[in-house]
Amino acid sequence: MDADLVVTRLSRLYTLDPGSQGLGERTDVSVAFAGGKLLYVGDPANAPEAPVTFDGRGCIGLPGLVDPHTHAVWAGSRSSEFARRLAGESYTAILEGGGGIRSTVRATREASTDVLVGSARARIEGMLEHGVTTVEVKSGYGLDPAQEARLLSVARSASARVRVVTTFLGAHAVPEELRGDRDAYVRQVIDEQLPWCAPLADCIDVYCDRGAFTLDEAVEILTAGRARGLHVRAHAEQVEHTGIAAAAAALGATSVDHLERIDDRGIAAMAANGTVAGLLPAAQVYLRDIAPPVARLREAGVPMAVGTDLNPGTSPVRDLWIAATLATLVQGLTIPEAVLGITRNAGRALGRADLGWLGEGSVADLSVFRPPPGEPPAVESLVQFLGDHRAALVVRDGQVVLR
Ligand SMILES: [Zn+2]
Repeated sequence: MDADLVVTRLSRLYTLDPGSQGLGERTDVSVAFAGGKLLYVGDPANAPEAPVTFDGRGCIGLPGLVDPHTHAVWAGSRSSEFARRLAGESYTAILEGGGGIRSTVRATREASTDVLVGSARARIEGMLEHGVTTVEVKSGYGLDPAQEARLLSVARSASARVRVVTTFLGAHAVPEELRGDRDAYVRQVIDEQLPWCAPLADCIDVYCDRGAFTLDEAVEILTAGRARGLHVRAHAEQVEHTGIAAAAAALGATSVDHLERIDDRGIAAMAANGTVAGLLPAAQVYLRDIAPPVARLREAGVPMAVGTDLNPGTSPVRDLWIAATLATLVQGLTIPEAVLGITRNAGRALGRADLGWLGEGSVADLSVFRPPPGEPPAVESLVQFLGDHRAALVVRDGQVVLR
């Protein structure tokens, strides 16, 4: 078969192939694509020729990166709240005063669809510049049936270049109009939002925590989502321990995220069910919070993914490389764990075993980086130097989407 694109002589390629040792590191290797699929990985001498080529000498190749946790569709700004938090106000106090998620919901509901698509596209395609080919995007700033469905549609239409996986998060907060009747809101999520949103979503998520949804409410909502074929996820054990990590894992959750306050029972349930721990170190830093128990997760064999948690308040970070480096610095991940966290394990967190690695059965996504000036072409340098690694080439589904 003729190739239509060949990346020649990458100094280092990390395939992250589950069948290979470590990160699947190879040196001096060519990669060819044909008809949207991976055609060849191997010795440059035997690589096919193609009409489109990229000279990979001096470069680092990785599978397309996967950001498994973002809230990338929103309107409004919370920069004034950042100043208030720096001055010592707590996030909970700001939320109770009508700020936080509540202010983003007001601004997002009022924004036109064009404005939402434009800003979401700029955010998502900014991620592409750093080598991300798959971005998970949650709803959760609409909080009524039409608005939640609108946000999922916006996410799906935001970029023709980046693969978007959508997550329905109607249970992000109780909206202003139902603050006195949370039961009515839970019923609305299950009986009205979910039927409308499930066809637009790949996963369902809940925010189970103090000030958000209770364990019983969260389990009921996730069970209803699972019955509609959505992958189960949860914002779990962040502010307070609720038990949602163990309960979601028992429902077959693909990931539970945050986990600063997870206990051993939750960790054991995750390990038993193959549930991925979604680590969000930028949120930990912005909230000046404690780290999740990474050593205990590692010991139990829980796979770990790393996301940006991009949102306008508690994690205004869209560079996945920054999240990877913060995961090493403030959470204790090793460099290979951080790389696995933004590739194969991130795909697994989305229920997508074909994402985040390169080989037989994977998607045909490749991101190529030059090392920071003076550094060797190795992934260790990309993790050590904090962020801003612009991809020299990005291939998604065998097609060049950035060069
Ligand atoms: Zn989040």
